[in-house]
Amino acid sequence: KGPDLDIPLITENLAGIKHKILVLSGKGGVGKSTFSTMLSWALSADEDLQVGAMDLDICGPSLPRMLGCSDELVHESNSGWTPVYVADNLAAMSIQFMLPDDDSAVIWRGSKKNQLIKKFLKDVDWDELDYLIVDTPPGTSDEHISINKFMGESGIDGALIVTTPQEVALLDVRKEIDFCKKAGINILGLVENMSGFVCPGCKGESQIFKATTGGGKALCEELDIRFLGSVPLDPRIGKCSDQGESFLDAYPESPASVAVLNVVESL
Ligand code: ADP
Repeated sequence: KGPDLDIPLITENLAGIKHKILVLSGKGGVGKSTFSTMLSWALSADEDLQVGAMDLDICGPSLPRMLGCSDELVHESNSGWTPVYVADNLAAMSIQFMLPDDDSAVIWRGSKKNQLIKKFLKDVDWDELDYLIVDTPPGTSDEHISINKFMGESGIDGALIVTTPQEVALLDVRKEIDFCKKAGINILGLVENMSGFVCPGCKGESQIFKATTGGGKALCEELDIRFLGSVPLDPRIGKCSDQGESFLDAYPESPASVAVLNVVESL
């Protein structure tokens, strides 16, 4: 097999993007897409920054719903697929935009998935961006290897790993970290999500997962990774996500918003 001729085309298409950040998690349901969304909102709060959010979670795309643009359609022009703009400086692209309806089950097989990922990377017309946030599928799959291979030459800043206190206790997150190290993906740091519960009414904090909260930090120390912070559980996050609203705008003073903004600051 000769060299992959699509890779130079991908590198050229992504050449106008300054920073590319992958968001990874050891398993599903830990808040990876929620965090990708909040990160995108947080970065785009600075009007001088152009931000793109790309949903490569092909089998469970959720960024459009969380960004409030699931009903949009993408248009193809001579310069490629134009992403959907959810704000003047925040563009989004997801496989969901190509589905006939929200409930369409996407059953893609390996090689077809890779073709789609390639097409996304090669043909989406992001133009110039300061940040591209890439929401990846959960776990470590062939898609991650492909994403890294296809985007590698254009320079990935690194990966942010999202985990939960329970996941730290399980092995999934260690596997994810190990995978990044083996694949040569720079780890920007780890975020512990759903870490403690702050009651929106009384503002009191409870440790729901007592035995494991704080495990993210310990794990980072053990594996020599940057610990970027803990984002508490807040039921309003799910509500905002379902309504496609920015939690950070709706509840800027909440401990979860403050925690997310601290993570973004530290990047
Ligand atoms: P993943 O992308 O890892 O599969 P999601 O981002 O879809 O996970 O999140 C899974 C569920 O958890 C969603 O319903 C989301 O609203 C909720 N969620 C994520 N983070 C938090 C949090 N910090 N507090 C409360 N709910 C959260």
